[in-house]
Amino acid sequence: MTASRQVVIVGSGPAGLTAAIYTARAQLLPLVIEGEPSSTSDQPGGQLMLTTEVENYPGFVDGIMGPELMGAFRAQAERFGAEYVSAKVSKVDLSTRPFRIWVGDPSAPEPAYETAGLVIATGARSLMLGLPGEERLIGHGVSTCATCDGFFFRDLDIAVVGGGDSAIEEALFLTRFARSVTLVHRRGELRASKVMQQRAFANPKLVFRWNSVVTEILGEAKVTGVVLRDTQTEAVSTLDVSGLFVAIGHEPNTGLFADQLELEAGGYIRTFGGTRTSVEGVFACGDVQDRTYQQAITAAGSGCMAALDVERWLESSAATHLMGAGRE
Ligand code: NAP
Repeated sequence: MTASRQVVIVGSGPAGLTAAIYTARAQLLPLVIEGEPSSTSDQPGGQLMLTTEVENYPGFVDGIMGPELMGAFRAQAERFGAEYVSAKVSKVDLSTRPFRIWVGDPSAPEPAYETAGLVIATGARSLMLGLPGEERLIGHGVSTCATCDGFFFRDLDIAVVGGGDSAIEEALFLTRFARSVTLVHRRGELRASKVMQQRAFANPKLVFRWNSVVTEILGEAKVTGVVLRDTQTEAVSTLDVSGLFVAIGHEPNTGLFADQLELEAGGYIRTFGGTRTSVEGVFACGDVQDRTYQQAITAAGSGCMAALDVERWLESSAATHLMGAGRE
């Protein structure tokens, strides 16, 4: 049987859970479809579930573990009445009102939920190299976030993979902590913008390994090095590093919505003046609509905005509905 809700939130990272806290406190009884445990995390909760210590989330003087922070967000929303379902959304229909949401079998005739307002907070995932051991060593030397993890590599040698703006930005940031940063790029020239390139070339701590790909990550419990292959000479070499930052791009989790919402280049959901999307009543927050900042705190901030936006929209659409009813 289809359950009816006023607000459904899809996603349970900082954006989704902040939207849950605010909509729950507004007594909208939000339902959070939080996702499922994955191969990299036994709990849903987004990218912070893959992080160890978070030191830049305001309010935690001594830092906090990523999963612990997400657990606190979750419990806080629950305290105000948010409900959770541990499942993945398999299909949505945004062409009808209320919106229809399937979990499990997408060919089932009836959706599991229908909702007046929808908040999308499905986040983004870092593209990975796909090497054996890569997932296992996330948080143990493999990282996708220099801002989150750079501090732990003080005076150590590390490598960054990628040649775009993200890779250069990460590499430059990491030179503040590391003894050396080797940028491993598969071609002989960078994709990054000229200004970023100039900064990179001017930094004495940054070493370039051109035309090189990582073929193996070394280390059992933590990263001890990487094996590189020169794409021109086929020469194989080992680079002793304690950290490997993968910065080869991000992919927003928008597959479910691709043909129903307006997207921007790169697949991010297009938002208009806050968190409104191209479909009235559907709001997007966090990394799924943000290719620029991608921080827990900015995701949480936009989750708050989405909650306020959906609350106001529900109020105004109820008012419109009542006015319409009064005229008949
Ligand atoms: P990107 O521009 O797509 O660059 C990805 C880089 O990773 C490219 O150099 C690519 O190599 C390399 N790469 C991709 N797949 C790879 C693989 N399997 N193995 C090895 N290398 C691989 O992504 P991005 O750097 O994340 O930037 C995304 C967008 O955000 C861009 O528009 C960028 O300008 C913007 N951005 C801007 C700033 C800033 O202005 N401060 C900061 C970050 C991002 P190839 O070059 O050979 O394709």
